[in-house]
Amino acid sequence: MSGGDMLEFEIRPNPAPVSAADRAALLANPGFGRVFTDHMVTIRYADGKGWYDARVEARAPIPMDPAAAVLHYAQEIFEGLKAYRTGDAVTMFRPEANAARFAASARRMAMPQLPPETFVESLRRLVEIDREWIPEGDGSSLYLRPFMFASEVFLGVRPANEYLYVVIASPAGAYFSGGVKPVTVWVSPDYTRAAPGGTGAAKCGGNYAASLAAQAEAIEAGCDQVVFLDAVERRFVDELGGMNVFFVYDDDTLVTPPLTGTILPGITRDAILTLAAEAGHRVEERPVSFAEWQADATSGRLREAFACGTAAVVTPIGEVRFPDGEFLVGGGEPGRVTTDLHRRLVDIQRGRAADPHGWVTQVH
Ligand SMILES: *Cc1c(COP(=O)(O)O)cnc(C)c1O
Repeated sequence: MSGGDMLEFEIRPNPAPVSAADRAALLANPGFGRVFTDHMVTIRYADGKGWYDARVEARAPIPMDPAAAVLHYAQEIFEGLKAYRTGDAVTMFRPEANAARFAASARRMAMPQLPPETFVESLRRLVEIDREWIPEGDGSSLYLRPFMFASEVFLGVRPANEYLYVVIASPAGAYFSGGVKPVTVWVSPDYTRAAPGGTGAAKCGGNYAASLAAQAEAIEAGCDQVVFLDAVERRFVDELGGMNVFFVYDDDTLVTPPLTGTILPGITRDAILTLAAEAGHRVEERPVSFAEWQADATSGRLREAFACGTAAVVTPIGEVRFPDGEFLVGGGEPGRVTTDLHRRLVDIQRGRAADPHGWVTQVH
């Protein structure tokens, strides 16, 4: 890091870490998002003072005043990425892209921007101290969750003057147990996720809070996930609650909706666009209407559809349900192109394939 303006991290090792035996038991079947490591990173921000008190410390509850601004007006953003163990090496996938997106989310939510090099360094520090928590095995990883919220004690409505940035880490097994199984998605008639000019392109907790009623509706309808249509015409497919969506046609063209501000710019989405072009597919970013999806899936012109994101990587969409009916995509089976692109991406992430784009960052 140049310039000498990088924050110094104070390291305060956890005096009572989980024992090796207990850790091994937890890592045997971590699931997703319920097991956590021994440490966390915290960095504070105050107007006039900037970023200060960068620490790696024991993971612990965060004391919070009941009037902390985030509890009232939801000024909060987050990121999600994975660290992998590949033999002796520990790697992360495109952390600079997460750093850039975190800064973009901060701008949209009127929050201070953490310098991208500090963001990446904070991940390195946590992965280094908690490296024994990275599960081994295909599909397993250490999920990193950086987030930031308004910690100022004030009930007035304006951007807060104080923030807390935190990184926690959670060992994760394969996201969907039982291998890659196509999901059934629900097209909500009532709810939308993001409107033009809104916060759809920011990775903020509020977007997720707003999607939960629709997700509950999906579960009620026997589906796994919601797919949201655009908020203006209710015609075009935007994305799932937490994953971007791709369509594969019988001429081997891949199509995904364009980033017009209502869709979260997924890093997996971006990688898939690159890998698909390299694999010889024509790739298009263009709007796809729900009517077109249904007609083309029914005629067979649309062969496959899949969702993608860091947590589940690539997930085939086998069935689509909506209040008036349902249809299958690709006979409900995982498709050839979906499976191939999934493998190409995971092979790079796991260090089994060449990394011509420099997506993999060594931690050690
Ligand atoms: C995080 C997220 C994605 C996927 O982004 P990745 O960078 O690929 O993990 C897609 N949609 C939403 C709404 C998200 O929050």
